[in-house]
Amino acid sequence: KSNNILLQVQGLKVAYGGIQAVKGIDFEVHEGELVSLIGSNGAGKTTTMKAITGSLGMNDGDILYLGRSIKGRGAWDLVKEGLVMVPEGRGVFARMSITENLLMGAYTRTDKDGIAADVEKIFTIFPRLRERKDQLAGTMSGGEQQMLAMGRALMSRPKVLLLDEPSMGLSPIMVDKIFEVVRDVYALGVTIVLVEQNASRALAIADRGYVMESGLVTMTGGGKELLADPRVRAAYLGDE
Ligand code: ATP
Repeated sequence: KSNNILLQVQGLKVAYGGIQAVKGIDFEVHEGELVSLIGSNGAGKTTTMKAITGSLGMNDGDILYLGRSIKGRGAWDLVKEGLVMVPEGRGVFARMSITENLLMGAYTRTDKDGIAADVEKIFTIFPRLRERKDQLAGTMSGGEQQMLAMGRALMSRPKVLLLDEPSMGLSPIMVDKIFEVVRDVYALGVTIVLVEQNASRALAIADRGYVMESGLVTMTGGGKELLADPRVRAAYLGDE
């Protein structure tokens, strides 16, 4: 993997009113890496992702993207720079068709030919979306909506894609499919930060992982290394 650091989180703190959800964390993501962020409910994973992508302000610390601080920058602005989040719950536009949703993902771009070519590429990655391209997004299954949300994010040509619990609420077959797609996107060279409840699968495909507990990073290491760690196994994989 490249030594080029794309994203560097330094001493990040985020509070909701008086509640400190993220209490000073550090981590970094190198170009081309897949980094998984695991931890129990309420550990602060979603809050961290939102702070990175500009949809939540930070109370302290800094975030460097491509070597420069992005503190205070808005989500819109960061999408243009290639830093894109697929939120938990997907957030597709229910009353728009699949094709329209994909085009919305390209709102920061003006290269019409490139956009059309990318819609084709997305349909190649997700044949299911091509089959249903005129269907309203709100009538699709949870797994199909997750594919659409990822496809829409890819339309902005991200450098770093942050995925918040993409497997949440999906059937086992769909979970398999989504993890397959995450690997495909990674193979295309997109740098990925993956937040998952499904710790074993998230670590199995990760170059590196971070474990968060109560707003702090408590462990870090290679994906396979964390997967084999007895503390991780006991806390997140249901081992004794
Ligand atoms: P999960 O895996 O359950 O999604 P998480 O690790 O993503 O958990 P966060 O969603 O970041 O955790 O939440 C961290 C803490 O911040 C939790 O205690 C949560 O209740 C609190 N929190 C999150 N959003 C808000 C909010 N809008 N207002 C107040 N508190 C919030």
